[in-house]
Amino acid sequence: MARLLIVEDDEGIRVPLTRALEREGYAVDGCGDGHEALARAAAAEHDLIIIDVGLPGIDGLEVCRRIREQRPSVPILFLTAQDGELDIVDGLDAGADDYVTKPFRVSELLARVRAHLRRTTVELAEAGDVRIDQAARRAWRGADELELSPKEFDLLALLVREAGRVVTRERIMAEVWDENWFGSTKTLDMHVSWLRRKLGEDASDPRHVQTVRGVGLRFEP
Ligand code: CA
Repeated sequence: MARLLIVEDDEGIRVPLTRALEREGYAVDGCGDGHEALARAAAAEHDLIIIDVGLPGIDGLEVCRRIREQRPSVPILFLTAQDGELDIVDGLDAGADDYVTKPFRVSELLARVRAHLRRTTVELAEAGDVRIDQAARRAWRGADELELSPKEFDLLALLVREAGRVVTRERIMAEVWDENWFGSTKTLDMHVSWLRRKLGEDASDPRHVQTVRGVGLRFEP
């Protein structure tokens, strides 16, 4: 079971978020200020850390920097009240992997948490004759390496990890196109057709990447 740390001084956010994460099966520790966050994080027992940027004591950016020094690879997600570009750049500079702007949908945050945990835990995936090396970001069909764009790779990796199961369009948009959550899904359709072409699929009768009408996609091994 993954263990998460939430650092957020606003109980109106921390308490319901903790409950939602616990319902998903995660063990969750919470705290409301930067000093306590560093003390908790020092134990290095968390698989993912969520940090509010505006914290009393030590601010979220500094908390992130200090945790990053000790834990170079733990996924860190920022909660940020502002969506100014400077704030985001500062957050990424401080070592965050991702950020969610308040107010956010809990379902969106849960999708990001799942995606980041999966990235760090599942490095190799295989379905049928398609193989993915997540750490190296390489993919093969049979013996042939596929030349994929970053989004095509993320899309294929997600579908292969969930092979045999339907992955909804909403989940794909949240996990592969983070920032375009509210955007058009035409982008997705385009990438699906490019991906099929690179896999050598017959567009009118694809073997692997199948459309489940009105729901999403399913990778058929
Ligand atoms: Ca705050």
